[in-house]
Amino acid sequence: MADEKRDYYEVLGVSKSATPDEIKKAYRKLAMKYHPDVNKDPGAEDKFKEINEAYEVLSDEQKRQTYDQFGHAGIDGNFGQGGFSQGFSNFSDLDDIFGSFFGGGFGSFGSSRRAANQPRQGNDRVMQMRIDFMDAIFGKTETITLEVDEQCKHCNGTGAETPSDVTTCPTCHGTGYVMTQQRSPFGVIQQQSVCPDCRGTGKKITRTCHQCNGRGYEHRRVKLDVKIPQGIQSGQQIRIAGKGERGVNGGPNGDLYIEITVKPHSTFTRQGDDIYISVPVSAIDATIGTTIQVPTVYGDVELKIPEGTQPNTKFRLKGKGVKNRRGYQGDEYVEVQVEIPKRVSKKDRELYEKLRNSQSDSPFERFKNAFK
Ligand SMILES: [Zn+2]
Ligand SMILES: [Zn+2]
Repeated sequence: MADEKRDYYEVLGVSKSATPDEIKKAYRKLAMKYHPDVNKDPGAEDKFKEINEAYEVLSDEQKRQTYDQFGHAGIDGNFGQGGFSQGFSNFSDLDDIFGSFFGGGFGSFGSSRRAANQPRQGNDRVMQMRIDFMDAIFGKTETITLEVDEQCKHCNGTGAETPSDVTTCPTCHGTGYVMTQQRSPFGVIQQQSVCPDCRGTGKKITRTCHQCNGRGYEHRRVKLDVKIPQGIQSGQQIRIAGKGERGVNGGPNGDLYIEITVKPHSTFTRQGDDIYISVPVSAIDATIGTTIQVPTVYGDVELKIPEGTQPNTKFRLKGKGVKNRRGYQGDEYVEVQVEIPKRVSKKDRELYEKLRNSQSDSPFERFKNAFK
């Protein structure tokens, strides 16, 4: 078994002549990297144990000497006899490594680093809402019904009938944690676990709130007026503070995010703050020009189609797009679809033929002539 163990100096990546300071530095760096709370890779915890074991020996002058002289055999022998090892004795070192990083003491592997009884904000929630095209442009107030846990108004989330009914938990003295000791191959491991009496709140309630039965919150079905701002677009979110999931230990609720999907419109399409529309125009109107009434989201607007308008020409109606929240106003673009009649009446045919015979210029003849 002794042979399978890696050399302690190798584990910490230091030379045999390393100073206590170098050893400490190397240990800190590795402990930081492989701490199970930070490193979730499989094997990180074993590596962490190995690092600690190596450091425990090399940081102690006497143990280091024994190790240098007899190798693992000397140390393991002592382990087996319950000799000098006190297991993970370097909690104070870890404490100041991790204390500065996580703002808390060194707890057991995998346990939450924060004090169990700290108030924490609840998670955010996301909800989908489909709204009409026009509502997205002009804005609207939509009333929704929502299930939400709200802080109890009688006890303000404490769960106690009166403030004096909140006392400090006698088991953990208000810390929310209790210390337990566990034997392991490396000696005794001290472990913090959540206080079983107060479940980490650190408080004992002598008389529970009559309104929420001590839960500290009430489950409610609430009606909510959601103000949809003008100009909103698909994918944008509206945040409603405090309507997310309930907080922990009297912490505030998370927020509610309503993600908007704008339904398509039968006539208009939208790109950002601009609106697009296609209108059919006859070949005659495109040829000799006309004036049409074009729909916009603000009602019909007169648009002059000039003589000789080509198919797919786009006209801009300035300011007839979406007005966004910053006050910017988009435009409407009108694309002309020139329609060629699929069938002509006898009377129309006669007129078209007359027109053709009177035409001095034929585009096809011009095209052919270009080759000559
Ligand atoms: Zn209450
Ligand atoms: Zn307790």
